[in-house]
Amino acid sequence: MAAYYDDKTILYLNGQFVKASQAKVDLYSQTLHYGYGVFEGIRSYRTDSGETKIFEALAHFERLKRSAEALNIPYPFCGSDLIESTYELLRQNNLQDAYIRPLVFSPANMSFAPNTESFISIEVWKMAKFLGDKLIKVMTSPFERPNPKAFKIEAKATGHYVNSIIASQDAKAKGYEEALLNDMNGFVAEAPGANMFYEKDGIIFTPPPGNILPGITRAAVIDICHELDIPTEEKFFKTDDVKSADAAFFCGTAAEVIGWQSLDDVSFKKNWEDSLSRIIQEAYKARVIEREFRFAPV
Ligand code: PMP
Repeated sequence: MAAYYDDKTILYLNGQFVKASQAKVDLYSQTLHYGYGVFEGIRSYRTDSGETKIFEALAHFERLKRSAEALNIPYPFCGSDLIESTYELLRQNNLQDAYIRPLVFSPANMSFAPNTESFISIEVWKMAKFLGDKLIKVMTSPFERPNPKAFKIEAKATGHYVNSIIASQDAKAKGYEEALLNDMNGFVAEAPGANMFYEKDGIIFTPPPGNILPGITRAAVIDICHELDIPTEEKFFKTDDVKSADAAFFCGTAAEVIGWQSLDDVSFKKNWEDSLSRIIQEAYKARVIEREFRFAPV
């Protein structure tokens, strides 16, 4: 397992900065037993000017609040205070390129009755600057994404990630790098921890909100396409549509923009280097470090 912390690491816990090795969590917590909690995955980057910048900090902390509200989890926290504390936490841990993990968790409660309080922790650890230069082999998963009639699928709830873990482990056990999950209607939905796009004849397609976690990176990709005059369309489609695409990619805070080599061993029509998708990848890479990006048409 990765080393997320050592003896010196500081984390944020309910308004205080404490040593990670000394922080305590209640083993009777409802979150630990039932997966009833919400969290975020955020990244900070050292920008071109040398500053530390949390990418889309407000959007992430607002989603954390919406996730809590969707699940009826008390959220007595203030977004701007949390952002300030996260910057302080990065400073205390001497990190610029980092992954940031806020978690809102529930008190001891073995019943299903609502709580009157919540707790919050924020952990940070080092993350390499850009992961996604290689292309990945993707497999259509036999597992579907959770049914939105059974879960608040737009919430980033801890319990949802049991689905992500089993799908991802299954794909890796079968020799692929990541899984692609359908929704309960058989349309393509997303990866265990990222959204997906494909490119066909100069248009970029992605599933609409409803059966996916609508990612903040997904929104940034759509925004980049608007800026670069690349047409985008949200629609339902099947894996066969993706297999006849020119290119495809996943996007998410951790994954950033990562191109696919193949889906179920079927390769794409365009070389990644010649695709619009790669231009989007480059534009995203520039955006997170606040570097100006100039569109050089392929
Ligand atoms: N879908 C799922 C299931 C995810 O876990 C994530 C990562 N949070 C995403 C999509 C991408 O979301 P974001 O771009 O906000 O990280």
